[in-house]
Amino acid sequence: MTPNRGTAVIVGASLSGLMTGLALSRAGWDVTLLERVGSFPRTGAAIGLDDGLLGRLARLAGRPAFPLGPPPVAQQGATWSELHARLRAAAEAAPRLALHHDVPLRGVV
Ligand SMILES: Cc1cc2nc3c(=O)[nH]c(=O)nc-3n(C[C@H](O)[C@H](O)[C@H](O)COP(=O)(O)OP(=O)(O)OC[C@H]3O[C@@H](n4cnc5c(N)ncnc54)[C@H](O)[C@@H]3O)c2cc1C
Repeated sequence: MTPNRGTAVIVGASLSGLMTGLALSRAGWDVTLLERVGSFPRTGAAIGLDDGLLGRLARLAGRPAFPLGPPPVAQQGATWSELHARLRAAAEAAPRLALHHDVPLRGVV
């Protein structure tokens, strides 16, 4: 495992939070991800994926590929909820990432 490079807390476990958390955890950060809503599946419409987006994110994290599944998901597009579910599964399997639901951040002291 990569040596610890730091600690991060991310508020919000939607697409941005999950991708950021995965990238940081794979780069050696210990990440706590706080999401105010429950762990039930989220819904959403279609989302377009730039051809190289997932590859760039994977390289950023020092990995050959994100485990988001075969084409067309990884190359073209997916439903928002499918992409969210796959990112969430990857986050739940990430050794340096702790994902907590039903935790609304109310302030920072
Ligand atoms: C009405 C609407 C429809 C859209 N439809 C589409 C679409 O069809 N396709 C598409 O690609 N994009 C769509 N979008 C854009 C969509 O917002 C982005 O695709 C994507 O969801 C943005 O992800 P995000 O992680 O940046 O933000 P968000 O998805 O907004 O995620 C923010 C997360 O932070 C959590 N959070 C916020 N405050 C706190 C707190 N205090 N404590 C803990 N957790 C907190 C929220 O619960 C949420 O999970 C739509 C946006 C809107 C508003």
